[in-house]
Order: sequence, then structure tokens, then C-alpha cells
Amino acid sequence: MKIAVLPGDGIGPEIVAQAVRVLNALGPKFDLEEAPVGGAAYDVAGHPLPPATLELAKKADAILFGAVGDWKYDTLARELRPEQAILGLRKHLELFANFRPAICYSELTAASSLKPEIIGGLDILIVRELNGDIYFGQPRGIRASELPLFKGAREGFDTMHYSEPEVERIGRVAFEAARKRSKKVCSVDKANVLETSQLWREVMIRISKEYPDVELTHMYVDNAAMQLVKAPKAFDVVVTGNLFGDILSDEAAMLTGSIGMLPSASLDKNNKGLYEPSHGSAPDIAGKGIANPLATILSAAMMLRYSLGMPAEADRIEKAVQKVLAQGLRTADIYTEGTQKVSTVQMGAAVVAALS
Ligand code: NAD
Repeated sequence: MKIAVLPGDGIGPEIVAQAVRVLNALGPKFDLEEAPVGGAAYDVAGHPLPPATLELAKKADAILFGAVGDWKYDTLARELRPEQAILGLRKHLELFANFRPAICYSELTAASSLKPEIIGGLDILIVRELNGDIYFGQPRGIRASELPLFKGAREGFDTMHYSEPEVERIGRVAFEAARKRSKKVCSVDKANVLETSQLWREVMIRISKEYPDVELTHMYVDNAAMQLVKAPKAFDVVVTGNLFGDILSDEAAMLTGSIGMLPSASLDKNNKGLYEPSHGSAPDIAGKGIANPLATILSAAMMLRYSLGMPAEADRIEKAVQKVLAQGLRTADIYTEGTQKVSTVQMGAAVVAALS
């Protein structure tokens, strides 16, 4: 099975190296091929997503991605910035379904800013639509305002839209995912204010009839933001659009204490996917050997489960991660008194050792 390995920038190469080490230690032989992406690709090929990298991503069965971005590229034209690589991959590969699990390991409840009884045992899945919504809607731009009060002043504008098929396909992904969990889907929208959300809700209700075994509820996004900190365990699968999902999935990530622990998957309609940690390239700690590689290692586990059809191997990795946490090993971001601080490489080695 071919895996495109795209380490990227900042801590990307350090954490991806540990995930690759874990994959290589599993037993089955993977065909891993590496290519530059993001700022690293701009440096060598003048573009954050060079044609050769895109070709590799297209022909691979799955993509293991580190992170992209660094402050030193902030002055580049928007289309050359490292972050464009991830948007380009999502677009070219039609990766429309983003899975962001937020799991709070019992060993790490102290790392959360919420009380242990609220957060302990949390295991929710946010399914975010990735290809539509206000992020891609046209028209958009900056123009002279026509509003009487502000006539002639510069105004920014964007367009929110979702078509029925777009809502249907992300809805089905969420209902299918819920069937493998506790059979509850909460659809988050802003149907009291937005036409786009009204259509979203109608479509969710319609397709829910195909999944009579799954309970569908609805929540406005502002309430969902509150409920996520008040009673996060009341959720199981949350399905929402691109904009709301962007914000809620980061909120859910922080509930668990460290963004360094959270994997993610972005899938196309055939379950081919791009797997990456939920965090960015963390330029502030790059090269120091202290980054937490567990989110990337857990992303590799998701890759085995969702794209490569190897659930037993995915289980092995997830259990190994739990084991190293139970042994008290912690990278700096999740360190608490009484535990043992380890480097990125030591954490990778510990997971490899715990596999057996
Ligand atoms: P970030 O997620 O990179 O970092 C936020 C904070 O979390 C930092 O203090 C960082 O040190 C810490 N952190 C992140 N990952 C960690 C890990 N594995 N172990 C320990 N600590 C970790 O977000 P940011 O600082 O806002 O962005 C930095 C760069 O990353 C920017 O250029 C941004 O555009 C980019 N970014 C890329 C992606 C992506 O590649 N998908 C996603 C988000 C941000």
C-alpha cells in the first residue's frame, strides 16, 4: 500500500518521523514515499504544492501529513503561502469530510482546564464539511459600501452557501460514523438566522429517515459552543459546516488539554484520506526536539482504520499510546508533576516499544 509522506514545515518533519517509525515497526510493509510540501516545497520548488507532490498524493492510497507554515513566509503572496498546500490538497483530492475526534485520556484529565468530572472519559467526534461554505463562496472581496450610513467606505464581503448534495454527502458520513459509535448525531447550524442553515437542517432531517437507528438532534452554533464547555459528554457525533466546524473543533480540541494529542482525517467519497495532527507547525518549538508526536502517530492509526482497512493495526497503535501515557511518559506540552518528561524521539521510541 502506497502512503505519501508529506512532513512540511516547523515541527512537521520531527513528528512525522516518529509516526513513520511506528508504521515501520508494525510488521506489514508499507510503500512510503516522501515529498516536500508547504514552505519546505516553496524553498525547493517555488510553490507550496508542487506538481510532483500533488501527483504523489493523487496516486497514493493515503497521505500522512505533518504541518505547514512558518512566520518567515508571511510576506509571500497569498497563493504562495505554505497553508495554500493544504487547501490545494483538499480541493484536488475532493477531501470533503473532516473527522476530528476529541478524546480525553484518563491519564491527562489534569491537563484540561475543565473539571475532571466534566471532561473525564470524553470521546466525541466532530465531522466538519471541508469543501464548501463561506470559505469558498463567490462573490467575495473588498468594495465600496452601498449602505446609506457608510456609503463609499471600504467593506469586506463573503458568500455563505451549501447545495443540497453537499449537505447530503456530509450528513451521510456523519450518520454512518454514528452507527459505529453510540448512534447519536447532533447537527449544528444557525437556522434561526441563516438561509443556508435552514436548508442544511431540512436536508439533515430528510436523510435522517434513512438511518432510523440513529438519533438526530439539532443545535444552534452559539449554544453548541456553550454546551461543549458545560457538558461535552452529552455529545457523540457532531456534524456541521466548514466555518462552524473550524471553530468548534478547535474548542473541542482544547477541552482535552493538549492539541498535541489530537489526530484528524480528511476523507473523499471513497475513504481515501489525508491524515494529519490537528495542530499547526508550531514554529516556536521547531527543532527543539520537544514536540508531542502523539497526534501524528494517532493520525497514522486513523489512516490504517479508515483508508487502508487495517483496524487491528490501528487498535495496536492506539493501545500503545494509552500504554505509554499509563507509564507516565509525557512530552512538555502534557507534562504534569509526578510524570516523566520525554523528548519527541523518546516518545516515538516508547510507542514502538509498547506495540509489542
Ligand atoms: P500551532 O498549532 O502551530 O501552535 C499553537 C501552540 O501549540 C504553540 O504554542 C505550539 O508550540 C503548540 N503546539 C502545537 N503543536 C504541538 C505539539 N505537537 N507539541 C507541543 N506543542 C504543540 O498554531 P499557530 O502557532 O497558530 O500556527 C503556527 C503555524 O502553523 C502558522 O503558520 C499556521 O498557519 C500553521 N498552521 C498549519 C496547520 C496545518 O498545517 N494544517 C494548521 C494550523 C496552523
